[in-house]
Amino acid sequence: MKIKLLLQRHFEVELQEALPENWGDVYLLKHNQIYRQIRRLTLQNRFAYTSNLNEAFSALPLGDLDSFLGKKQIPYLNNVQAIKELEAKRPNQIEWDHIVDNLHKNHVFHESCHAVARSIVRPAAWSVLNISDFSLDDGSKESRQQKMGLILLEESFANACELLAVADVDDSAHKIFFESNSYICMFDDRVNFKKALAEFDRGSFFKFILLSYFHSNLLFDQFIEDDFKKSLNMSFGDVAMLSSQNLKALRALSKNAFALNHRFRQVTTEFYFKLLGYPGRLNQALDFDHWEILDSNIQKSILDPLSMAFTGQK
Ligand SMILES: [Zn+2]
Repeated sequence: MKIKLLLQRHFEVELQEALPENWGDVYLLKHNQIYRQIRRLTLQNRFAYTSNLNEAFSALPLGDLDSFLGKKQIPYLNNVQAIKELEAKRPNQIEWDHIVDNLHKNHVFHESCHAVARSIVRPAAWSVLNISDFSLDDGSKESRQQKMGLILLEESFANACELLAVADVDDSAHKIFFESNSYICMFDDRVNFKKALAEFDRGSFFKFILLSYFHSNLLFDQFIEDDFKKSLNMSFGDVAMLSSQNLKALRALSKNAFALNHRFRQVTTEFYFKLLGYPGRLNQALDFDHWEILDSNIQKSILDPLSMAFTGQK
């Protein structure tokens, strides 16, 4: 696809909450319901987007991301101007394929999901568990494990939103803009997600996908039967209410969460825990009963609000 066409789509509308300097942002806000919902909640929670980046972030984004989120900011780079200039210089010549591998991608969607999840998880952690900060270098083993569990729930919320947002990706421009803004782009399963979102209760289905990612982020390679059943019960209320066809579909859909590259999960999580002060290795860190983290208080104060953030219900 020619970048000339994409530029036209990029600039086809103006929206107040859009970032015109982030490639595809306006288009995604207009055409992608989940992208739009996350933007609305990010702004509602008083996070702001900034293109005022420091060298540390520009050189090693993951190393400095948390300091931005701590200031309620989401960093991005103007990646539209360069494309505009390219088109002006060589009109109607440049294809998307020519620049896709070289273009700086902004992960504002993923980071906005973090902003939304954090606005739910952190106040609840304080009121329910008395956790006031998320440093991992001191405190009891139990409180450290609770924090790790909550951090992975936040990450799983972002993963689940990204996974399911492909349901709306129905043309090539949408696909190009989506993959420029998202880590997870499972376009092949798009129709299955769309079907599941229409057929199941949206909030319950989202919770199930979030719990699938939670297990994936805890470094499980797949659901063991007991965890699968417990996750279904926690999401849908009673697993006995689901038909065998539904169970088959949900089992197949949950596999997407475990497709997240194992090394990527391990390395990024260990790196993040180290940044927060945890001195050990990830395998030791995650050696806890994750169902204890997901007790009824956490279900009510964190899991339910996270799924309501996704559905847009109050
Ligand atoms: Zn993340």
